[in-house]
Formats: sequence, structure tokens, C-alpha cells
Amino acid sequence: MSLQGKTALVTGSTSGIGLAIADALARQGADVMLNGFGDHRSAQAQLAAHGRRVSYHGADMSKPGEIADLIEQTVSTFGGIDILVNNAGIQHVAPIEEFPVEKWDAIIAINLSSAFHTTRLALPHMRAGRWGRIVNVASVHGLVGSVQKSAYVAAKHGIVGLTKVVALETADQPITCNAICPGFVLTPLVQEQVAMRAAALSVDDEQAKRALLQEKQPSGEFVAPEQLAGLVVFLCSEAAAQVRGAAWNMDGGWTAQ
Ligand code: NAD
Repeated sequence: MSLQGKTALVTGSTSGIGLAIADALARQGADVMLNGFGDHRSAQAQLAAHGRRVSYHGADMSKPGEIADLIEQTVSTFGGIDILVNNAGIQHVAPIEEFPVEKWDAIIAINLSSAFHTTRLALPHMRAGRWGRIVNVASVHGLVGSVQKSAYVAAKHGIVGLTKVVALETADQPITCNAICPGFVLTPLVQEQVAMRAAALSVDDEQAKRALLQEKQPSGEFVAPEQLAGLVVFLCSEAAAQVRGAAWNMDGGWTAQ
């Protein structure tokens, strides 16, 4: 177990990609602080089965005060913070003229600003411990655009930029910061888009999934949360110590086009 003795905080880890990442880090021996609005009891039970210490904090990642409390509680519970995975995220799909202003503000706050706050607050602890890994869950939408996703694409391009700056500011230390850029992953966030597509085309769920993939993802298959979790475990390993400021896509060929 390569991460024995490390403490990991994974934001938005009660479901989907975040839960798979938290699970994989616990399997590698890390103690984990969970966060998110989903069923945290079942997430905690799932991770505890790996024999690691697991805790939960319900901070709303759009609120800087609650984020500060989350970092403080992680450090007071586990004695430090070694791995930070900025994963919490939401989506809203609409043309820019109809895009609700409050949705824009929420997406920028949760998908981008929260990573600024967690990073600025966690870095002093990583510097003190002389080791750290920051992984930002961006998206293919951190590299390319798509219609009707103005806030999401802006936030994800923003987090790729933030990743590069943090990587440079930590470059002389054993602390790395990288982004991962998934294509479509079948989580609640994407299931909502599948349902919208099914309604718009008057087709069933399976046909809507195929239509969504066909449009963007040449493999025709969803990326699995466990595959992304494997990439995060690699980025946390010593083999990845010189991977710095990367935006690493795992997207079934989406951005190769
Ligand atoms: P998800 O909806 O399953 O998970 C999102 C998590 O964030 C949940 O735990 C949710 O409770 C939490 N969350 C939402 N708002 C929050 C808030 N204000 N405060 C705290 N937690 C909050 O979705 P997912 O697909 O697993 O998304 C995880 C990340 O992966 C997001 O950043 C998303 O943009 C990114 N991503 C997803 C896909 C995909 O296809 N699903 C592709 C690329 C990137």
C-alpha cells in the first residue's frame, strides 16, 4: 500500500468520480476525509472496509468559510493533509442568452473558486510536511469547448490554468499539482444530460446514451470512475513526482479529434 500514513481530502466524494477516487486512495492506505451532499454514511462504510480512518465534513464548497472549516477539521482529525483532490462540481446546460446568472455564479464558485480556497489553505500543511499531491478534477471541457456549457467550460479552463500556476509555485518542492480531464463518465451529473437528450429526441435511455457518446467520444464507451481513480493513484505515486502542471486527458479519444 503506497499511501500508508498519508491523509487525503477528496471534495464531492459522496458519489461518482469523487467516491471512486476516495475508495482507491483508501485501498492504497490513505486515511480519508470525505465531503459532499450525497449519502455520506454509505460512503464512509464503503471506505472503512479497507481498514483506514475515514471521516466526513459536509462543507458547501461554494462557501469560503465552510471550506476553511473543512481544512481545519481535516488537519485536526488526521494531523495533516498530504493529498488534496478538488473534485466537487456541478453542471448546467443552456444557451448563454438564457443561462441563469445564479447558475453561472454557483458553477464558478463550486467548480473553480473552491479549488483556489482549498489549495491556498492546504498548501502550508503540505509545505510543513515536505510532501504533497494536488489533483484537480477538470474535464475535457478544460481543453475544448461545447455549446450550452459556458459556465462549466469557463470554470474548467480556469482550473487548468490554476493547476499550472500552483505547479510552478511548488516546483522546487516534493509537492505536485496536476489536473485530470475526463470525457463522459456515467455519473448522476451526466445521467441528467442523458435524460434531457432522451426527452428531446423522444428515444429511450440507451439510445440517448449512444447519441451522446457518438457525438463526442470516439470509443463509444463511457470512461469508468475506477479508471480515473487509477490515474489519481498514479499521480500520487513517486513515479509521478516530476509530472507537474499537466492536464491529463482520459476521454476515449474526444480531444484527439
Ligand atoms: P456527481 O454529481 O456524481 O458528484 C459530484 C459531487 O460533488 C457529489 O458528491 C456532490 O454531492 C458534490 N457537490 C456538489 N455540489 C457541492 C457543493 N456545493 N459542496 C460540496 N459538494 C458538492 O458528479 P461527477 O460526474 O462524479 O463529478 C465529479 C467531478 O468530475 C466534477 O468536478 C465534474 O465536473 C467532473 N467531471 C465529470 C464528468 C462526467 O462525465 N461525469 C466529466 C468530466 C469531469
